[in-house]
Amino acid sequence: MVYPNTYEVGMSSLGFQVVYALLNEREDIVCERFFLPEGDEDYLSVESGRLLTDFSFVFLSISFEYDYLNVVKSLLLAGLEPFAEKRSGQSQKQPLVVFGGVACFLNPEPIAPLADVIIVGEAEPLLSDFVTFLQTYEGRVERQIYLAEAMLQFQGVYVPSLYTPEYDNSGRCCGMTSVSWLPRRVERVSLKHCDQAGHSELLTPAAEFADLYLTELGRGCSRGCRFCAAGFIYRPPRLWDGDAVVEGLQNRADDVSRIGLVGMEMASDSTLEQVSTYLLESGCALSFSSLRADRINPQLYELLAQSDLKSVAIAPDGASERLRKVINKGLDEKDLLLGATRLVEAGIFKLKVYVMVGLPTETNEDLQEFIDLIGRMKHKIDEIGKRRGRLTEMYLSVNCFVPKPWTPFQYHPFGVSEVLEKNQTISVKDALERIKKKIVYLKTGLRGLNNVHFQADKPENALFQAVLSRGDRRLAKVLVDMVAAGLTWKRGLKKNNLSAEQFAICGYDKDSYFPWYIIDQGISTRYLWQEYTKGLQSAITEPCDTKVCRRCGVCDDS
Ligand code: SF4
Repeated sequence: MVYPNTYEVGMSSLGFQVVYALLNEREDIVCERFFLPEGDEDYLSVESGRLLTDFSFVFLSISFEYDYLNVVKSLLLAGLEPFAEKRSGQSQKQPLVVFGGVACFLNPEPIAPLADVIIVGEAEPLLSDFVTFLQTYEGRVERQIYLAEAMLQFQGVYVPSLYTPEYDNSGRCCGMTSVSWLPRRVERVSLKHCDQAGHSELLTPAAEFADLYLTELGRGCSRGCRFCAAGFIYRPPRLWDGDAVVEGLQNRADDVSRIGLVGMEMASDSTLEQVSTYLLESGCALSFSSLRADRINPQLYELLAQSDLKSVAIAPDGASERLRKVINKGLDEKDLLLGATRLVEAGIFKLKVYVMVGLPTETNEDLQEFIDLIGRMKHKIDEIGKRRGRLTEMYLSVNCFVPKPWTPFQYHPFGVSEVLEKNQTISVKDALERIKKKIVYLKTGLRGLNNVHFQADKPENALFQAVLSRGDRRLAKVLVDMVAAGLTWKRGLKKNNLSAEQFAICGYDKDSYFPWYIIDQGISTRYLWQEYTKGLQSAITEPCDTKVCRRCGVCDDS
């Protein structure tokens, strides 16, 4: 199993650990881990120092678009030809390369030509049967016939080489074709039920979240923030019940007491109360990176105070009350001020605040409202800090909005707050300048505040992320050129006659086709468009209620 990043990052991935444990719990499988070497060490497995090409199957777990370059690096380091088509044409035996992870079911296309197979969705329901199927592969049938059979047998299995993209006159992907007996689109697979919440399997001081035992509270989120991919591709929101979470927590070793809960944003009050009480009684310390400002109940407050946690983030995301309606965040200024003061009262000395710039309809008035909010927040938390003799520092993190696949904002261009006409583009230079001006506006407005630290994304990097998350399979060549020939992403695009504008700075309408529509997430695109237009009018959508709601198409009566 390959994690296309360092050991430190990979071992902090709960998804990677869960799949590694699922594979190794089988008697008939030996699964070993590969991480990118940090120096010039050889690329060998952690467990037994073997080469990647010694294995019959290579599983890559891909969580972030930025790791696409590391996917290419990993394949090259292993001595594998990066393009699947060339691997299958080689005479010597080549391992079958299977990609999975959240980036693959958001939009697999930019890396599709590098994979023999892509697992689309959550691995748990599929993995065991699929691996049993793969074990029958070796030497029996021709690779493409065999892989087509896998697609027919398993929901969530995608073989990119069996599909051909079509492009319109302007060079945009406008559809995918395949033989008639294969599914037109690849249905995502998702875990329906969970008796024991997913949890860390191996703890190591070398991981990014060192010695932190991660446990899931559920999957997905009911809130429907219109920019958030996880909130849409993990639908329907599933909350594990309190017993399943406690069961997952009880699997930790006796000496492990630092707990990280994943999905605290959406857990029910009763589960949070049950889990907080269990952790308090077990003498555990709780750690988490971010918390919805309206989620701090009394048990959690007590747990926080006991946990000696120094740093927590709250995320207004939208700069103003109006913009938080545009993005459907469901938090008002009162929630944010209350959340911040409660966290500081519970002993947080480093309060991070996340906000985005470049959101649809955003103006300088919205940014000014954020500057004023931070002033008021600082005033409130300083009062607490003065009483106890130590002030809390604020760290503002300004992120560029990236329009992600499968969200209502997929129809919106990067860097531009107004709506563009279908196929209308503005230049990269113009889009970047607009975003930079917004960052400068915030930075200037916040300059006079003591103990407020300002950090902002590099707009160029955010644009590259937008290109990677929204691109089609022609990007695979760009990625290989970047790694093999050391090209910058802009030069890589140019060399391959592609542009950032065509993928990320363009107007769309409700009938626009996107490369990620090869995946069937179960969400109706009509619903995504409706949500986009509602957002432009600052209209709120209520959170999911899976018992009665049928509006986006994911929950059906069957
Ligand atoms: S159908 Fe309703 S409850 Fe189900 S995921 Fe969609 S919006 Fe949420």
